[in-house]
Amino acid sequence: MADDCLFCRIVRKEIPVNFVAEDEHSVAFKDINPQAPVHILVIPREHVASLDQAKDAAMLGRLSLMAAEIARKEGVAAGGYRTVMNTNSHAGQTVFHVHLHLLGGRSMHWPPG
Ligand code: 5GP
Ligand code: ZN
Repeated sequence: MADDCLFCRIVRKEIPVNFVAEDEHSVAFKDINPQAPVHILVIPREHVASLDQAKDAAMLGRLSLMAAEIARKEGVAAGGYRTVMNTNSHAGQTVFHVHLHLLGGRSMHWPPG
């Protein structure tokens, strides 16, 4: 846990956020600035700054599986969705607590910008 990390504060419920899914390892909540009809962030409870800092394969796998479960619950799995992990500045990472974006409910372009 990092005292001054926004997402650690969300995990600790110091900032009130409705979790759309949670378990002992991970939590998920709606992005405050959604880029698609469904835009949910899935994060580990433990503080890891970015994918570049990550060492725990199980933690990373759990984020993907929770995103897939949410996509099914939100009704976007059959139509398709995208999971994205922005890492460091060229990718536009702004919050340095690793998080998986789940985006769905509209067609996506490729390649991403
Ligand atoms: P990044 O740019 O690091 O990949 O993604 C950070 C995401 O966190 C952005 O999509 C941004 O909208 C979202 N975000 C930033 N602050 C908050 C917040 O206080 N609450 C929620 N729910 N999302 C946030
Ligand atoms: Zn954190």
